Amino acid sequence: MIELSSRVNTMISSPTLKLLQIKKQLQTQGKVILDFGAGEPDFSTPENIKEAGTAAIRNNFTKYTPTSGIAELKKAIRDSYQAEQAYAAKDSQIVVSPGSKYGLFLLLQAIVDPGDEVIVPLPFWVSYPEMVKFCGGRVVFADHLQPDRLFELTAASYISRCSAQTKAVIVNSPSNPTGKIMNSEELGKLIDYFYKKNILIIIDDCYRKIIYTSGEYPSPMNLVPAASEHVAVISSLSKTYAMTGWRIGYTIAPEKLAAAMTKIQEHSTSNPCSISQKAAVEALSGDQSAVQAMVEEYRRRRDYFARRVDEIGHITYALPDGAFYFFADFSHYIHIKKFRDDNQLAMDILEKLNVILVPGSAFGAPNHLRISYATSMEDIQEGLRRLEEYLRNDR
Ligand code: GLU
Repeated sequence: MIELSSRVNTMISSPTLKLLQIKKQLQTQGKVILDFGAGEPDFSTPENIKEAGTAAIRNNFTKYTPTSGIAELKKAIRDSYQAEQAYAAKDSQIVVSPGSKYGLFLLLQAIVDPGDEVIVPLPFWVSYPEMVKFCGGRVVFADHLQPDRLFELTAASYISRCSAQTKAVIVNSPSNPTGKIMNSEELGKLIDYFYKKNILIIIDDCYRKIIYTSGEYPSPMNLVPAASEHVAVISSLSKTYAMTGWRIGYTIAPEKLAAAMTKIQEHSTSNPCSISQKAAVEALSGDQSAVQAMVEEYRRRRDYFARRVDEIGHITYALPDGAFYFFADFSHYIHIKKFRDDNQLAMDILEKLNVILVPGSAFGAPNHLRISYATSMEDIQEGLRRLEEYLRNDR
């Protein structure tokens, strides 16, 4: 048997994607599963976007494209980013990739050397630590689990972990799994502190357009104008436009970094899918009413969740400002039911209720569960009914 590389041996599988597989397996056994697991919109890709993809196939737009993305898509990205975030990106700063996940992978590969530290938020999205480790980097956590400021994204939590080895910090706002947003003041403080130390600030804003607060979403490129060479934004079309399978994300980065990412993409995937790029042009520049409708529906579900979780009781959470996850502390029930941890609780819920939830340990937060509400209201009502009955049992 061929020895695997030590790099890959230290990597763990993606817990969120593994749950998608488990769901498929259970469905083939004829089970009806209520899926609150992997964050994937239950909506179909809007018709106008599907039509643009179909037209691309019909028009034979099915060949290689420029590695960092077609000019038409870069223009759509520039225009929409300018309109929403008041920042004029240059084409040479934009790298379109097969999903924002791959964009982050390229970016970390381009900057992290063995021994470098990258500060990631805690709780974290499952792929951050694995990607950093894969580059030979060391993961350092900015702790947002303090009970008195639950999940609040603060500059101080990052600044306190800065060292001479820090190469980059990752800010995920709105956060997966907590849905919290870092406000302008905190983000400004963070950028100001780290850029002066020649450290890259990576903003993963995949859920930027799925927010429920009335306040503006801060524009990281404009908060500290002098920091422009030290800020990179990674965005996704997957969640906003229900396009997870099309695999389109983009990064806006300093030119030198964008060029380095492009070089890695040249030698790994050549280019993002040509058909998906045409669909992405329509997504960003076409009618946005489907997005508004989806966000309104997510908000309705979030509010319903909060009400029902309060009724169930003994579950601690902070109301999400964005994204489509509830991240809640189930310590009380883990204790009452004499479980070892959140993994055991999630497994028991899956076996007994056919409901998929993600254990908080996957995000570095034991005793929590992540519950995605990117699933239909009927499933949410039924899932919460089952959960309530289950939790009230031997309480
Ligand atoms: N980002 C989504 C999640 O957290 C999809 C799966 C993944 O890429 O991790 O569930």
